Amino acid sequence: MAPAQRAALPVASLSNGMWLKGDLHVHSRHSNESSNNPVRKIIAFSRSVGMDYVCITDHDNHVNGDVAHHTWADPEFTSDSLLLLYGAEWTTTRGHGNVFAAKPYDHQRLFDVRDQRDVAIGVVKKDLGIHLSANHPSGKDHFGYSYDLLESLEVWNSVLWSKNENAMMIWDDMLSSGRKLTGRGGSDAHHGVPDTPAQTTANSKQATANYVGTPTTWVFATTRTPQAVVDALTNGRVSISSNPFAPRVEFYADLDRDGTMDVMMGDNTPATGQPVAFRVQLAGTTIPTDEYTIRVVKNGAPFGTFPAHGQTHTAEFTDTPATDGRTYYRVVVEGPPTAYPQVPQAMALNGNMVGLSNPIYFNFDPNF
Ligand SMILES: [Zn+2]
Ligand SMILES: [Zn+2]
Repeated sequence: MAPAQRAALPVASLSNGMWLKGDLHVHSRHSNESSNNPVRKIIAFSRSVGMDYVCITDHDNHVNGDVAHHTWADPEFTSDSLLLLYGAEWTTTRGHGNVFAAKPYDHQRLFDVRDQRDVAIGVVKKDLGIHLSANHPSGKDHFGYSYDLLESLEVWNSVLWSKNENAMMIWDDMLSSGRKLTGRGGSDAHHGVPDTPAQTTANSKQATANYVGTPTTWVFATTRTPQAVVDALTNGRVSISSNPFAPRVEFYADLDRDGTMDVMMGDNTPATGQPVAFRVQLAGTTIPTDEYTIRVVKNGAPFGTFPAHGQTHTAEFTDTPATDGRTYYRVVVEGPPTAYPQVPQAMALNGNMVGLSNPIYFNFDPNF
């Protein structure tokens, strides 16, 4: 079938939703090596910096898979205002992955099949209906399973951006091969600020450099519910910022160049052979005179570099996605770091990385 005759894929509304921010990789006292990080401290801190959601992802091997009777059963695991996702860090001999779910699920089953063949794991994962995400894919304990088990990839782990350069390469390889995998962040924070000097541990200094929000993952959710957060993560309407106060990257495309944006990052649409106008917008910038650099990646290769400055912090470019084969575009934003006073050493460590978008996709097979 010629591309022009292909029915347009349904694209969700660009206006009917809200941006919610949170952290998708945090360890509480239910992970053995964490310190000074009870669930109540994570929740109170998350609220204090304006987070909308958080997923506490304790190591499941520390409780032999029974997160339901540890993290989730903790009387402190409750909040009226913060959306709490259900999850855990699947901690196996072949590496680490995070589960994200809106409701409790039978995590024990996933733990129990961890050493089986990927085909058997895939059956259990599908049956549980969970979102599975590879953690720190280019680092120690990288996800050593088939990426076909995944909905997303932790492309930005912790405040140390330099650790993630190789994760970009893995992500681009997956995207280039037709895998529409969402990129997301996770602080992987294990340690809280001690309440008293006597509680200080060798790792306590980490709490002042890497904690909830370094980085922050934004999702464009249709409602303020845990399910909508997970759905947005699966659909890729997601961007990552170095901290909760750093600018949020929004990436849109105007397919017919009528001045109205038609799709955003995460969306997949047929290529028509006509030029497409793209817009990168930095929301929540705090200093109007700041200048940012937008680097556009097309199909894994550099496409162009554009400045964003002034009050609007917008960059625009035009390109014609090929009608033959797949094309994706994603953007990397660099520039002045934004202060995060609640985690005072973070700014110095994250360098000039400001944010990452997810891709806008053309001609990806929705049934892949
Ligand atoms: Zn891990
Ligand atoms: Zn972890």
